[in-house]
Amino acid sequence: MSAHVLTLNAGSSSLKFGVFALAEGPEPRAAGLIERIGGSPALHLRDAAGTAIAPGEDPAGATDQAGAVGLVLRLVARHFPDGEIAAVGHRVVHGGPDHAGPARLSDDVLAGLERFVPFAPLHQPHNLAGARAARAAFPEALQVACFDTSFHRNHPWVNDTFALPRRFYDRGVRRYGFHGLSYDYIAGELARSAPLLHSGRVVVAHLGNGASMCGLLGGRSVASTMGFSALDGLPMGTRCGQLDPGVVLYLMDQEGMTTAELADLLYLESGLKGLSGMANDMRALEASEAPAAREAIDYFTFRIRRELGGLAAALGGLDALVFCGGIGENSRLVRAEVCRGMQWLGIELDRARNEANARIISADLSRTHVMVIPTDEEIVIARAAAAMLGEGAA
Ligand code: ADP
Repeated sequence: MSAHVLTLNAGSSSLKFGVFALAEGPEPRAAGLIERIGGSPALHLRDAAGTAIAPGEDPAGATDQAGAVGLVLRLVARHFPDGEIAAVGHRVVHGGPDHAGPARLSDDVLAGLERFVPFAPLHQPHNLAGARAARAAFPEALQVACFDTSFHRNHPWVNDTFALPRRFYDRGVRRYGFHGLSYDYIAGELARSAPLLHSGRVVVAHLGNGASMCGLLGGRSVASTMGFSALDGLPMGTRCGQLDPGVVLYLMDQEGMTTAELADLLYLESGLKGLSGMANDMRALEASEAPAAREAIDYFTFRIRRELGGLAAALGGLDALVFCGGIGENSRLVRAEVCRGMQWLGIELDRARNEANARIISADLSRTHVMVIPTDEEIVIARAAAAMLGEGAA
């Protein structure tokens, strides 16, 4: 038997998972997705090279996270009969004020994380349901929680607070920031491949369905566009991004909207989807001739430029801008629009490199480096779980 790490990312109706061999590193062996959990579930499985594997298991039983984790258990037994799952690493969106790194998922830690369900009602309950199911399905494995908030926990106070009375800060109403696993990965990649830039002032734009930006100083997060919830900052596929809180008060008072209706509006009906009136998907917007689709892209890229200026101010300048996430890694249009008119920040894009999706897309003479680095949140989780296993064995 050889030791493996399983990574789990449990969402409202999906479960993403990865299988990693521990011997070399950890090294990815397979990645999978169970979608439409609770509806008519579908299962996709790929090997490390990205080639589809026929799963050979019926996903029909994945009616909830427990059913989905049970399906993963059967898949692991079928496809990795030589493998033993020594650790399960969980993506958990919210670690609250105290978790500045991964945590062993004991009963106490799990109970503590329940307290943050009201902070992230659309993500945290599903993450924790996945964690509970995995503890039952893999009782011998070390269970490790990796938080999207941890990477930002050492923000200076001015980037950690809102200007509310102090008691709210003490009760946990803070600017937590998210996408920390992605930023952690990018910081590690910079340290490995561009140590000079890593030691400097870097803004990372994680642009996917969820989108945020992070200012890194010497590889550590100093400021982020996301705040208390995953709603703040940039507009996203279906989330509004930065919004005057007066709008929420108005919608409650004058339009009689309930909390549930507001959550639906702000999380699911706004952003690119709300502005375009057609799609949350950047590819669909880029392909569309409709003026509203173009306007949605304009708003998205304008807000990124604004935040870039703000984060550069927080960092005292800019040495590199890094794009990642599905849009950041693929959309030439979005990258070109973000960099347009940014010469004042030392940014000079090279058109051909941008079109080619090269790793460095700035011109040779650009004072600020502009890079595209594919992110990998799963490997960050797998490494954290492997490290904790190592500590346990020591
Ligand atoms: P998630 O936050 O769900 O992980 P992803 O990081 O996968 O999201 O990003 C999804 C987004 O990336 C979608 O808006 C999708 O349209 C966009 N995207 C993926 N490929 C391309 C492409 N070639 N051109 C433009 N946008 C793309």
